[in-house]
Amino acid sequence: MRDGTRVVRAGLPPMMQGEPFLPGPTFAGSYHLTGNPSTSDYSYGRYHNPTWTHFEQALGELEGGPAIIFGSGMAAVTAVLGVTLRVGDVLAMPSDGYYTARMLAEGYLARQGIEVRLAPTAENAQQELLGGATLLWLETPSNPGLDVCDLAKLVAAAHHHGALVAVDNTTATVLGQQPLQLGADFSVSSDTKTLTGHGDLILGHVAVRASSWRDRLQTFRTQQGSVPGPMEVWLAHRSLATLDVRLERQCKSALEIAQFLAIQPEVVLVRYPGLPQDPAYTLASRQMKHYGPVVSFVLKGQAQAEHFLDACRLVWEATSFGGVHTTAERRARWGGDAIPEGFIRLSAGCEDTQDLLEDIAQALTSVSTEAKGHSYL
Ligand code: PLP
Repeated sequence: MRDGTRVVRAGLPPMMQGEPFLPGPTFAGSYHLTGNPSTSDYSYGRYHNPTWTHFEQALGELEGGPAIIFGSGMAAVTAVLGVTLRVGDVLAMPSDGYYTARMLAEGYLARQGIEVRLAPTAENAQQELLGGATLLWLETPSNPGLDVCDLAKLVAAAHHHGALVAVDNTTATVLGQQPLQLGADFSVSSDTKTLTGHGDLILGHVAVRASSWRDRLQTFRTQQGSVPGPMEVWLAHRSLATLDVRLERQCKSALEIAQFLAIQPEVVLVRYPGLPQDPAYTLASRQMKHYGPVVSFVLKGQAQAEHFLDACRLVWEATSFGGVHTTAERRARWGGDAIPEGFIRLSAGCEDTQDLLEDIAQALTSVSTEAKGHSYL
């Protein structure tokens, strides 16, 4: 079946007379449990929950390998790092990937005696880090710069060196890109973003190629306690059904916004892997089914970027991405990423594409009118 059908039906239990399609959330810390605990599928709320089981089944079907969910994307990232790395191991990471994951590696992991090596996503530069590496961590498209690396090529190189490969697939989602099919050992995602797409919950998951890793990740989750709430998981499963239709609108809008921005005099640079003139386009077209909702672009400076965000009416200023509401932010306000002060990350939502284009056009006009009145220089 095709993606649009698979996301609607993923993880639903077999049809039962009088039962709902998707059972409601199970709120349980304790379950009835007499005698030997191993005779029950459910024993204690930190170990497992039927609502998790349905959603993990859904994710496993879509990813093509067993999946396990966590209380956040960062909990999922931490669990993969936690089960794969020991003192003296080498972690190869993108220098331009998600900031908090890099901070965790350079701070906590480095203090625990793990060597952290960094190189950019573009041009497969991480390939140079592989000698003696234990784990190659990839993020493509990278957040926020939207560079792309060649997953199949880097996986082959890493496995040749005896390293495992984890791919942070948050920006693309499982419908946009399938890391396990391209040979990766772990596909990691912040489901806070596009996968659930309503900006109303925090969640993450890991899917694996070898089921023994799932068991180790589950033990890590149980012991470390980074578990999701059943309500969030139920909402996530409900939201998953619309992923394909949401992406259809979001990717269409993202492409049209990128095309529009590319010809505006106020815009210094646009990055979108689906834009034919983008340096990532050829590789992204080979590796990805959707290019995703995120467009990055650069205005001349901080003042212009702030003015643009103030002038937008439909595009809300907020962090995160992938939701049904179109949002944008001046990414350098957080610090930590090597990006210009005028860099904006915009996430196309599900509003009408033309309304978004008109809003962005009037905000850019406001920037250029302001520039004529008072020089930003
Ligand atoms: N990975 C990427 C690429 C992200 O953008 C984020 C969050 O912004 C995360 C991981 C962490 O996800 P969460 O905020 O759900 O912990």
